[in-house]
Amino acid sequence: MKTTAEIVENARRAGLAIPAFNIPYLPMMAPVVQAVADLDSFALITVARLEWIKFESGSPAAVMAEFRRCEKPDFVRIHLDHVPVIDEDDLPVDTLPIIREAIDLGYQSVMIDGSRLDLAGNIAATRAVVELAHAAGIACEAELGAVLGHESGPLPPYEELFASGKGFTDVADARRFAHETGCDWLSVAIGNVHGAISAGMKDRKKVEARLDLDHLERLAEATGIPLVLHGGSGIKQEYLAGAVARGIAKVNIATEIRQAYEGALRASGKIADAQQAVYVRTCWLIRDYFG
Ligand SMILES: [Zn+2]
Repeated sequence: MKTTAEIVENARRAGLAIPAFNIPYLPMMAPVVQAVADLDSFALITVARLEWIKFESGSPAAVMAEFRRCEKPDFVRIHLDHVPVIDEDDLPVDTLPIIREAIDLGYQSVMIDGSRLDLAGNIAATRAVVELAHAAGIACEAELGAVLGHESGPLPPYEELFASGKGFTDVADARRFAHETGCDWLSVAIGNVHGAISAGMKDRKKVEARLDLDHLERLAEATGIPLVLHGGSGIKQEYLAGAVARGIAKVNIATEIRQAYEGALRASGKIADAQQAVYVRTCWLIRDYFG
């Protein structure tokens, strides 16, 4: 059976991207897996630290138990998303025990997010996790640049942010980072933003992000590894297609399916209805958004 690293690298070479669906509520997992399998597609199932701290996915172990229950190995793999060295509330996180636990639980790839550190700090933190992951035979994703949106408080006006290129992943830094860390996949900032998650903001419609595709092309060339697009919900389709053609080989999708779940649950109070909404949304994403 191919490793997740091989699958993502093959996607990069073919100009395709693997979606990674975030699971902030455990009942979302079954309909996502079912949609991926019904469409004969392939996806990663993923959970970020903030989804067990600020939402209801419980813990890496709880997510893994649910994954085992719904697992369809031909169609889905499990990935550990953002374990931040400095979290969205600016607090330090002891990352290595979390990563070790996930590896022991059987996660098939992991992410370390040192993007709030300076370059040298991010490189050092990432290297330590790359070593652990590679010793276990799995891939490690890292992040360089500022993919904003998870912080509390409003985002600066999007168009200003995009025009200034502030926080975009620097090309020379990316070259050095990929070389010195040996990370397998790199999450880059090219105009993409995470969906807001704070209480007052999380139900709002996400900004329709644009992407700097020329900048992405330079990053792909400088690093030579599969690049990852976080904040994959609500990106204009032509930008998404352009990004996938230029080296984005994994796209994280969180807001689209989370809001489908929460909205349906609010409307009827029934988890089964919320699961059906997630199923329909996931089918749409695979068929029409990535299409
Ligand atoms: Zn992310």
